[in-house]
Amino acid sequence: MQIIDGKAHALRMRADIAHAVIARTAAGARAPALAVVLVGEDPASHVYVRNKIAACAEAGITSIEHRRDANLTEAELLALVAQLNRDPAVDGILVQLPLPPQIDSARVISAIDPDKDVDGFHPVNAGRLATGLDGFVPCTPLGCLRLLEATLGDLSGADALVIGRSNIVGRPMASLLVSASATVTVAHSRSRDLPALSARADIVIAAVGRPEMVRGNWLKPGCTVIDVGINRVPKESGQGTRLVGDVAFSEAADVAAHITPVPGGVGPMTIACLLENTLKAAARE
Ligand code: NAD
Repeated sequence: MQIIDGKAHALRMRADIAHAVIARTAAGARAPALAVVLVGEDPASHVYVRNKIAACAEAGITSIEHRRDANLTEAELLALVAQLNRDPAVDGILVQLPLPPQIDSARVISAIDPDKDVDGFHPVNAGRLATGLDGFVPCTPLGCLRLLEATLGDLSGADALVIGRSNIVGRPMASLLVSASATVTVAHSRSRDLPALSARADIVIAAVGRPEMVRGNWLKPGCTVIDVGINRVPKESGQGTRLVGDVAFSEAADVAAHITPVPGGVGPMTIACLLENTLKAAARE
């Protein structure tokens, strides 16, 4: 059994991106620039934004942070997005989710210029992905695909099960796998008999948000497991918490040929793919 080292893979990607940025600036172009919009005080969002900004700095990507109070109106946020869309010094725009309840996230995402939409959440980019056109692909499923290709090489003909159908992970993951010529099943909260679906799958991608839901005895021996879930659960000792995925790791590791750990699997790839998308946005000019 091989543990897929997402952290090491992400570090290699980040080093490659940093080299590409140096080559770009050496050729006279300005550094890629990412505008990061953070509204409100959600502690997890603050951590994510801090990590993204630190990763940009390390890769030589300029990041411009726009922090706003939780009482920002939707009109004010749309005005900020419009200003960033027009700004030629901004290549990528990331609006950190979730947004406060008075703001319609879908409307804000749709207001971002699709060619600056480095999160890949704009419906135009979702459409490009679904129709096999080039565009921005959401960072988490893109990171999963990178890990799968690095581990398995060609995915054509593989039976893949994606558990979860969110716009951020499950759906774009399914599109990527279809484009990679896998045979894809998408399961969700209404699916019947997940163990039977899992038993057929060469590749299982779990993006549900339920701690250790996927059990080892569901899996086909020799399969590859990509665990997207990040769940905080109480430690057995009762003191403090720990992170677990959507897959019961030690059980699954006994059956699978390859598996991502949580943490250190998909998580680091998400940030690396955000940097890759920002570099791509800068190169589109
Ligand atoms: P979501 O809540 O938007 O979607 C969850 C999906 O799981 C839904 O489509 C739902 O139908 C499905 N589901 C719920 N219960 C189910 C069940 N019992 N059986 C089968 N399917 C079920 O969540 P999301 O944004 O897609 O995130 C999923 C998980 O991935 C979360 O734990 C989240 O924290 C994590 N995540 C990790 C990263 C990362 O960088 N590693 C990025 C995004 C999300």
